[in-house]
Amino acid sequence: MSRYSRQELFAGIGREGQQRIRQSRLLVVGCGALGSAAAETMVRAGVGSLTVVDRDYLEESNLQRQSLFDEEDVARGLPKAVAAEARLRRINSEVAVRGVVADLGPDNIDELLKGVGLVLDGTDNFETRFLVNDLCVRDGIPWVYGACVGAYGLALLVRPRVSPCLRCILEEMPAPGSGPTCDTAGVVAPIVQVVAGLQAAEALKLLAGRTEALLPGIVTVDLWQGSFDVMDLRGRAPWCPACTEERYDYLAPRAGSAVLCGRDAVQIPAADGARLDLAALATRLAAVGEVKVNEYLVRFAAEGTELVVFADGRAIVKGVADAAQARSVYARYVGT
Ligand SMILES: [Zn+2]
Repeated sequence: MSRYSRQELFAGIGREGQQRIRQSRLLVVGCGALGSAAAETMVRAGVGSLTVVDRDYLEESNLQRQSLFDEEDVARGLPKAVAAEARLRRINSEVAVRGVVADLGPDNIDELLKGVGLVLDGTDNFETRFLVNDLCVRDGIPWVYGACVGAYGLALLVRPRVSPCLRCILEEMPAPGSGPTCDTAGVVAPIVQVVAGLQAAEALKLLAGRTEALLPGIVTVDLWQGSFDVMDLRGRAPWCPACTEERYDYLAPRAGSAVLCGRDAVQIPAADGARLDLAALATRLAAVGEVKVNEYLVRFAAEGTELVVFADGRAIVKGVADAAQARSVYARYVGT
């Protein structure tokens, strides 16, 4: 009996499906809560190789839901990608695991996606998701979108030119500061496991060649309300500029990239055409830190960093070491 015998016994996968899974090469983008859970499941399932890319360092408040990490990782102040690589290798030494500490962007995404057959979304922001979506559509790589906040979550497998992509569904990247994030509205661990489970299940079906078993569209779950819905997207043709005109707007280098301005401070450029609802943002942030607001800006301090956000989406982040950390703070508290 092989270590994958229970998976091979399952009729939905079988021995042939397992052999296909063994040949697969995965990229997990972001290794927070969803990335941890999805990466662990896929490594246990015996994929061929798995690369995790993440820009963040561990903090104690991650441990409630980010299942690959422990107190020692936090005490050592390890980058998530480094701690994840070590843990995943201990779980399954047969898988070629690699952790990359980097901020995924237009400059390095080509390199990181080279040879990859499937991408799992473990990010917390739409800036990265739209970038991943564009590249995956361009190169015909399937990817699985996943997101959660509170006790609510959703998952969607995107098969370029076969099913609608994220842009086909959302049309445009949501404006910064337009919705709640896990760092303003919180999140419970069970929804992380459910959404990561949905992502991993779609991944296993696809990798095993069982496309007939794929869910027909976007899945939404609310564990407090007790709802589970699948929005059927079959028959809806891809129509966005990426899918139909080969126009990949989000692959262009960022209009203005984050720049260091002064000691320990980074400026995040304004988002195109964005107008933030500063009062609403201030209300959300008041739950987690000290907030001051006026008609021009919101000033927010928590956990050693200070964030000043202007109405056009521009921000100054203080108390950070580099641009990647600044973008991380911005994504968590403002939301992109
Ligand atoms: Zn599309």
